[in-house]
Amino acid sequence: MQKPEKKTCYRCGKERVVSKTWKEKVGNSIVETTEYVCTDEKCEATQKKDLRNQKNKRLQMEKRKRDSLRDRKKLAAHNKALRS
Ligand SMILES: [Zn+2]
Repeated sequence: MQKPEKKTCYRCGKERVVSKTWKEKVGNSIVETTEYVCTDEKCEATQKKDLRNQKNKRLQMEKRKRDSLRDRKKLAAHNKALRS
């Protein structure tokens, strides 16, 4: 059997270890997913925080997009009302 490939952290270069593995059903096949965590606790915590921030930013952007779309529709309706 092949030894699992050693992973290094892209942030700090330290070794990453398997935190958990689980099997997921994707379509008709079962895929084994492995989650790695950095052996540096601080680095790992920072990564988790970054991930959360990224998610928040994405959610905010989506909300802004929705809002501007709504405003544009409102404006269009307003302009139409003015013309008639
Ligand atoms: Zn790290």
